[in-house]
Amino acid sequence: MNRAYRAVEVASPGQLRLVQRTTSEPGPGQVRIQVEACGVCHSDSATVDGTLPGIAYPRVPGHEAVGRIDALGEGVQGWAVGQRVGVGFLAGSCGYCEFCRNGDLVNCSNQEYTGIHHDGGYAEVMMAKATGLVSVPDDLSSVDAAPLLCAGLTTFSALRNSPAKAGDLVAVLGIGGLGHLGVQYARHMGFEVVAISRDDDTAQLAKTLGAHHYINSGASDPAAALQALGGAKVILITASGGKTVAESFKGLRPGGVSIVLGVGPEPIETSSVDLIFGSRKLEGALTGDPATGDRTLRFSALSGVSPMIETAPLEEAAAAYAKMMAGQARFRIVLKMG
Ligand SMILES: [Zn+2]
Ligand SMILES: [Zn+2]
Repeated sequence: MNRAYRAVEVASPGQLRLVQRTTSEPGPGQVRIQVEACGVCHSDSATVDGTLPGIAYPRVPGHEAVGRIDALGEGVQGWAVGQRVGVGFLAGSCGYCEFCRNGDLVNCSNQEYTGIHHDGGYAEVMMAKATGLVSVPDDLSSVDAAPLLCAGLTTFSALRNSPAKAGDLVAVLGIGGLGHLGVQYARHMGFEVVAISRDDDTAQLAKTLGAHHYINSGASDPAAALQALGGAKVILITASGGKTVAESFKGLRPGGVSIVLGVGPEPIETSSVDLIFGSRKLEGALTGDPATGDRTLRFSALSGVSPMIETAPLEEAAAAYAKMMAGQARFRIVLKMG
């Protein structure tokens, strides 16, 4: 039976509005979800500002959605009505492309992005492809789980796939939506953790989150400070800006890697000397696959990693989005439905 539900859609770039919609049945391979919470992420600007080509408006943004499955489409196996699930940025792999067949689900050539190519979680109801679902442990609340599906998975997956081993020096550059989770994960994974930010005010917070060291990159050279600690095996770059990446790159120890997670328009400049002498690497990482999403949430529940959030009702999505874009969210805003 069709029911009315509320959603916040981007009518055309720049314009968020609350609307009533009517539910439909999930298609083959899809589930329908009663959304309970959805995080507001900087990447939502791709939809709101129309920065990615080919978005068909109106479009509901939101790719940090948590809710309960209330209907299964044809052919869906392994998921049940009533089960609490999460939907992240990657909307689900196809299973048949070259990359899927090789086990690289993140780079599936037929992958859609939630809230960009189809409607996302700024709504009381959404559809999702079953291959993209993440299972949510009972002891994580929906509002706490939501930001872990994008900001959490991105930092957790990058650290988990990095060459760092327990006891190695790992730096997290930028203490915001991603970085405040990255520091907690790095600490609980057993690394010696350095937090880097541009002011003195963040020092206390960084220590509270689990950092062993703090570098104010506004007052000192972050590369020299990292070398004074022995050099970083991994630098997790959660801030955007090519300059930021370049400034810290010389802080890597030989064989170390800078992993870029923050998207920005600036090119990243580094010298061939810094790359070659010390065999340093520069790489990017895009969120993570659904199984790593399961691990992100479970690891968070087991270790007590949680996002610092403020909540807002769905109808205040436009204001919440504006606050996030103005850099005033501490650190994640989560929309709560119902
Ligand atoms: Zn995101
Ligand atoms: Zn594929």
